[in-house]
Amino acid sequence: MTSLLQIAPTIASYFGVHLVSPAHPIEQILKFAYSHYPVPHTVTLVVIDSLDLKLYYGLGNELATLHELVEQGGLLFECDTVSNHTTPAIASILTGLEPESHGILTSDDVGKSKIKSILELMEEEGKQAGAVIERKGAEPLIGKLSYVYGVKDREGMDIIEYDKIIKEHTISILRNGESVQMVFSHIRTIDRFAHRGWDLHLAATVTDRNVSEVADAVAAREGLLLICGDHQAHLRNRGSRGDRGSRGVGRVPLIVAAPHDINPVSTLNKK
Ligand SMILES: [Zn+2]
Repeated sequence: MTSLLQIAPTIASYFGVHLVSPAHPIEQILKFAYSHYPVPHTVTLVVIDSLDLKLYYGLGNELATLHELVEQGGLLFECDTVSNHTTPAIASILTGLEPESHGILTSDDVGKSKIKSILELMEEEGKQAGAVIERKGAEPLIGKLSYVYGVKDREGMDIIEYDKIIKEHTISILRNGESVQMVFSHIRTIDRFAHRGWDLHLAATVTDRNVSEVADAVAAREGLLLICGDHQAHLRNRGSRGDRGSRGVGRVPLIVAAPHDINPVSTLNKK
């Protein structure tokens, strides 16, 4: 079984950074990473909020880029989640610790924890890291990472604009951050649409386009791209609401790819 807890230990192992976690690195990812880039290249980790396995497969047409990344030589893991909520789930992804160990359960806890994320640990060992996330989550990272973009939260459908800005900053770090080794970003349109009972086909289409553009930027600098969900989607009709801190019962995809011009035609059309 694979768990979201293994992502941070895997990245730490790839870069030779010391991280304490009860979880083990995913050997298949390390093998994949070293076979593409024996000297570690930039790792971009994109968390797609609420992307669970059911949505990944059910919205396969809309999420064509994600599926292509897997089909064209990438890896797909089905990961156990650790929480039903975004803040503790993402903290677990970035620390390799269970929510009860990192203690970051609500947005008020962000920045108060003494536990360091893989991003901070990399910086401490002289490897540049960047994060593109919601403004409040970004604030505690300012001054600790080489690149921090905090994007102001937006209401309702404007979450699409929010994700567009997240995508643009992520690409800008990949293009301009000559020495950056790890970039983390968090995109949220699918989560917002799921909560509101809005059209997930549209949310998935928008998300896939953002991922596609990030993948092109990763390809251009010959890096690795990791994409995962954070928890099971809170679909209105699925009755999957858990209590805060409750254990995730869900499984989410983790995609690992070394994209090389996955879709040259669409890249040309975007310009
Ligand atoms: Zn979430």
